[in-house]
Amino acid sequence: MTDLIPLDAHAHFAPSRRAEELADAGAVLASTLSLEEAAGAVRRREANVVWGVGCHPRLPQAQAAFDPTVFAKLAEGTALVGEVGLDVQWSRVPIDDQLRVFRRVLCEVAERPRILSIHSYTATRLVLDEVRRTPVVAPILHWWTGTAAETREAVALGCYFSVHSAVARRSVFRTSVPPERILVESDHGWSDPPAAIPCRVEWVEHLLSVRLKRSREEVRRLAWRNLATIVRETGTRELLPAQFARMVDEYGRLGEDPARLL
Ligand SMILES: [Zn+2]
Repeated sequence: MTDLIPLDAHAHFAPSRRAEELADAGAVLASTLSLEEAAGAVRRREANVVWGVGCHPRLPQAQAAFDPTVFAKLAEGTALVGEVGLDVQWSRVPIDDQLRVFRRVLCEVAERPRILSIHSYTATRLVLDEVRRTPVVAPILHWWTGTAAETREAVALGCYFSVHSAVARRSVFRTSVPPERILVESDHGWSDPPAAIPCRVEWVEHLLSVRLKRSREEVRRLAWRNLATIVRETGTRELLPAQFARMVDEYGRLGEDPARLL
């Protein structure tokens, strides 16, 4: 359908995965769950994977071990911060502890912009309040469950939305989110086979193409164009793997030229 490589804006890989296993996964923004995991991940050099520095709000151990100095040091060397954020319904970490970590992350990213993947499941109001209090460049909301009003508020705050299949079915993505704020993700789990990612991304592209009344190819170009905008606005191009940066340049441009859109 397209010669563009699929772009997955949020996935997880087990640290034991070898580079060869990730080669067929497409272009992936790979979030980590803890600073411990991130410390190993950011040293890796896969051409198609951007590794993030994260501290997942559902993981008590990761949250308890969060060290702002270590976080800042790790985030210095990579373009991506994620997965971070807040979770009310499924996390056993007290919300005050989650807030303490998330606020430190936002302060750091406000000073040193990064591609930022924020877990917002059932914590939409809290996440918006924090982003309003500490504005960051182009935050990306992952697992967005907000109302239409909250979604419009998030758009006004400059947020992007990385969408997986469960989220893509929600009508707010037709009614309240401009196409230029959408990214596609697999929400691929640690132990799933990485080669399954392109197939999952295609499924989300299909769901979005129905919602947005665009072709699947156009949705993919849109995702690349939107990532190119985020990379430009956050000034993170030099931190990307060289081949990944070239894809962002080339594919991001394709999406910007209306004559080349289907
Ligand atoms: Zn995740």
